[in-house]
Amino acid sequence: MRIGFGWDSHEFKPGVPLKIGGVHLPHDQGLSGHSDGDVLLHAITDALLGAVAAGDIGGYFPPSDPRWKGADSVIFVKEALRQVHLAGYTVSNVDSTLVLATPKIGPHAKTIQARVAELLGIKPTQVGIKAKTPEGMGTDHAAIAHVAVLLEKASRKLKSKERSATKKAKKKRR
Ligand SMILES: [Zn+2]
Repeated sequence: MRIGFGWDSHEFKPGVPLKIGGVHLPHDQGLSGHSDGDVLLHAITDALLGAVAAGDIGGYFPPSDPRWKGADSVIFVKEALRQVHLAGYTVSNVDSTLVLATPKIGPHAKTIQARVAELLGIKPTQVGIKAKTPEGMGTDHAAIAHVAVLLEKASRKLKSKERSATKKAKKKRR
């Protein structure tokens, strides 16, 4: 098994759409950033890359590259997931905590959970979405995301399946 951790923050900015976890949330401000500013997907990307020691989001998608201006952050998650699969792992579960003053995440948590699960090819029950307000932190102008991921070796499931198949075959021969 491998564990990964990711962290990101973006500043709120008026006049841009707000995207968190690949979901558009109704709000009068969005998150500024070179891409679409999806703070949760960026932290997930870094957690996945970190778990297989494959560097970080900036190494794959440098903010200096005009290709990633306004980019859909789903692209970043997909590349990180590809690196995880290349290293021979699958995602076991993801947990996250968002820290932001507004908007309230509670009413959207299930939608975000389903979207993140879809992106990672896992079940919603394997994705934790939690949110807190930044009490006493003075970060009301920003959204912050903390993410932990657990990976398991892809071959483990396969091997156990193979083992049970072999056992059955042996039984049949007897
Ligand atoms: Zn970011």
